[in-house]
Amino acid sequence: MPTNLLALNWKMNKTPSEARAWVGELTAQLPATAAELAIMAPAIALPAVAAELQGSALAIGGQDVSAHESGAYTGEISAAMLRDVGATYVIVGHSERRTYHAETSQVVAGKAAATIAGGLVPIVCVGEGLDVREKGEHVAYTLDQLRDSLAQVSLEGAHQLVIAYEPVWAIGTGKTATAQDAEELAAAIREALRGLYRDYADDVRILYGGSVKPGNIAEICTQPNVNGALVGGASLDVASVVGMAAAL
Ligand code: PEP
Repeated sequence: MPTNLLALNWKMNKTPSEARAWVGELTAQLPATAAELAIMAPAIALPAVAAELQGSALAIGGQDVSAHESGAYTGEISAAMLRDVGATYVIVGHSERRTYHAETSQVVAGKAAATIAGGLVPIVCVGEGLDVREKGEHVAYTLDQLRDSLAQVSLEGAHQLVIAYEPVWAIGTGKTATAQDAEELAAAIREALRGLYRDYADDVRILYGGSVKPGNIAEICTQPNVNGALVGGASLDVASVVGMAAAL
């Protein structure tokens, strides 16, 4: 059974100075937890977060990465650059990237492959919108997105993989999928991963994301196929992170 991962997605929040102060506050209060914690800070804040975390077991990660190794891609950040500042993880294919930056699953596939090639672990996000859910097509839709997003991840690369099931209608809306909804998709994703990566699928962590908070994280993360959470809104508040860590 893989260790639960609590990945905190700050999105476009916190300057480097604010990030450093926040992390100092968190580490002073963080209870012992069986889960692994990772702070997915804006890239420019990662060095400040890494410096403040020195000596702690918390990991850091990026929120996006280029599919290219290096070169003339103005504004982009490579996996090697993230690794150099101490990152372990990168979110790829977040629904906000898919929606506001027109990232297709083909683009996400290139980013997942570049992440693994650069020595980092991609947290590959998949999940349906409300229209798809209302038509009852959420399982097929999400699994199609999953297979397309993993098209360039080999069996070997599957050792370095985290999947986040994030129904878009539950992100930042306060609407949480039920623990049963999360498990339905996590189980379907596990089965699809077995088809792609055989037994390695059992070691892939499948996170749930969408309005997770201290009050609902335990029930969601004790589902058989859910191995943690990707948290947006509640990840900005120290007391909420302390509460979620204590619940895992
Ligand atoms: C997210 O951004 O990945 C997310 C799940 O956000 P929230 O927790 O705010 O719904």
